[in-house]
Amino acid sequence: MKLPGGLLVDGQLRCDFSFKPITGSIEREIIERNETTDSLATTLVTALVTQVTNILNITLASVAGMVANKELISSLCSGDRQYLILQLEAIINPASKWLTIECHACDELIQLQLIPGTLPVKPAGQYFPITTTQLSIGEVSLRAPNGADEEALLQQPDNEKQRLSHLLKRLILQSNKSVDIEQLSTDDLDIIDQTLEEMMPQPSINISTACPYCDSLQEITLDIYEWMNEKNNDIENDIHLLAINYHWSEKEILALPKIRRKHYLQLIEQASHLAFEERI
Ligand SMILES: [Zn+2]
Repeated sequence: MKLPGGLLVDGQLRCDFSFKPITGSIEREIIERNETTDSLATTLVTALVTQVTNILNITLASVAGMVANKELISSLCSGDRQYLILQLEAIINPASKWLTIECHACDELIQLQLIPGTLPVKPAGQYFPITTTQLSIGEVSLRAPNGADEEALLQQPDNEKQRLSHLLKRLILQSNKSVDIEQLSTDDLDIIDQTLEEMMPQPSINISTACPYCDSLQEITLDIYEWMNEKNNDIENDIHLLAINYHWSEKEILALPKIRRKHYLQLIEQASHLAFEERI
């Protein structure tokens, strides 16, 4: 698998990455880390950006030929970070899921089937992650926003205009110096918007579908982070069942990837059905 964007390393765009084997201990670490992030974060949005960095830091083995760490993960562009979260979901929860939405025209309930990890991804543009463009103030360099930009942005006061100008200051340089954002015209802002749009890779998290009852078009924005916050004690139950049936230690059980853990649980369930049928 390749990142849709990637990182510039010594002038070369590197798109390779690898996850660690996702064992029960890693799943448990994700759950535990989420609980601590929840209590420390000041707002929900800052929590999400930090949570994505933390989860990727727990699960990624390498990025762009380097051992993954928080700094490297924060330097990935936003589209790459979303892509990795989607791929991770596909590893941890591979089963297809159903999404129920209410038609905005006829109020009927519509069901959509989603298979984790299969959303189409718009690839990065030719000049990703940094390009030059001509604005009214002259030629500038323009860089695709990354996780560190998102984090810095959220530490700014909750004012849309201030946040935008803070972001642009980070992304635009003229002769290696930051530019005065106030000097930019509306046309300049349009050019910046368009250039970034073309440059940035993006998983399609907006899907549209026609209602099967009234044919009206539905636009849905998927919450790709939802699975990270699903609170369930699945792991604790799994450990319990495997420990009493196979007499394995907690450590041994947590070393199994989820797919194997679930396979053993299936075998236990089949065996108990057989035992039940024999009795009747
Ligand atoms: Zn409808």
